[in-house]
Amino acid sequence: MTTITTLNVQDIRFPTSRSLDGSDAMNAAPDYSATYVTLATDDGIEGHGLTFTIGRGNEICVAAVESLKPLIEGRSLASITDNMGQFWRDFTTSDSQLRWLGPDKGVIHLATAAIVNAVWDLWAKAEGKPVWKLLVDMSPEQLVKCLDFRFVSDALTPQEAIALLKRNEAGKAAREKEMRKHGYPAYTTSAGWLGYSEDKIRRLAREALAEGWTHFKQKVGGNLEEDRRRAQILREEIGWDNPLMMDANQMWDVDEAIANMRQLAEFDPLWIEEPTSPDDILGHAEIRERLHPIGVATGEHCHNRVMFKQLLQAGAIDYCQLDSARLGGLNEVIVVLLLAAKFDIPVCPHGGGVGLCEYTQHISLFDYIAVSASLDGRILEYVDHLHEHFLDPVVIRQGRYQVPEAPGYSIAMHDDSLADHRYPDGKAWQL
Ligand SMILES: [Mg+2]
Repeated sequence: MTTITTLNVQDIRFPTSRSLDGSDAMNAAPDYSATYVTLATDDGIEGHGLTFTIGRGNEICVAAVESLKPLIEGRSLASITDNMGQFWRDFTTSDSQLRWLGPDKGVIHLATAAIVNAVWDLWAKAEGKPVWKLLVDMSPEQLVKCLDFRFVSDALTPQEAIALLKRNEAGKAAREKEMRKHGYPAYTTSAGWLGYSEDKIRRLAREALAEGWTHFKQKVGGNLEEDRRRAQILREEIGWDNPLMMDANQMWDVDEAIANMRQLAEFDPLWIEEPTSPDDILGHAEIRERLHPIGVATGEHCHNRVMFKQLLQAGAIDYCQLDSARLGGLNEVIVVLLLAAKFDIPVCPHGGGVGLCEYTQHISLFDYIAVSASLDGRILEYVDHLHEHFLDPVVIRQGRYQVPEAPGYSIAMHDDSLADHRYPDGKAWQL
């Protein structure tokens, strides 16, 4: 019987702000960082998980993980996986003093994601399967037992979730085969960062086209004239048949978002992402109504299943961009996938940062094979940074994620990468 003996947590930071990789209107100079968790067990298997931050403050996430440690150390894996839904409920609520720091939001929830995702990684490794396959092979009843429907059962009951999963059960094997053959469709954000020069955007767009990319995203929300110029450059390079998405990273008020997007509408954007405050559900609904047919996308800063429930109930979004490390781990991610399926809204998870693409490939594969059974409107974000630090990094061919086959959640990093980027004593920080 596998028992979790110790939890180790590390503050890992990459100095990405030196090249302005990842720069956007709100996040001018991020140092992509991970609160990196290792669960050691008595039989030698390790579980790995991380949550993503953009630099300063990562030490606060690390401290939150330390505070949650007593809830996981000493637990047998079987005692968790026998009733994963109950485990998640207990993990997020049984220590009421820690719950007060959220609930289900902020640093304590980010820390929860790192640990809960490490448990999934451990479970998948114990089963010898990648996480997506562990999920796909579960029966609808087993899967639903992994989830906590508290606060969302007015929109989705466990029975409805089972029915949703049964609806597409018959085609699972065929879709799994299809994914192994063709991969999962993706788009690239790598050409469109705000801090890049026009020449660099042009060059990166050209290179991406040559590599087989068909969907592109640019950052907006800075100077409107510059946003227009970058859109013009991208349209010149990618043409008008390839979709272009825009991402404002929460810069605008509601009316400002509508006015600015009307100025950018001539570049035919497929969606405007994070047009305003991530908490403003009715604001998103207003923007969506007034900007139609430009789609509204959000979710990378949406912190829990209740917020997603309301975004869906209010008809506020066309695309659900859940974040694998902001929601409280995979259990809550799956609840949101099922809610989105019920409301018939495609899920296009947030990628980028460090490790998010490694996580989201599992989520989207599971979504397609077992939940939605559709690729309509579904496209997975890809950002070309920091993958070299992972033992089992994402593989992209012709703009599609190739199916990961190694056991686990693809999130373990190389020992050298961890040592070099440990903050503040790693080599990368000794300049
Ligand atoms: Mg974004």
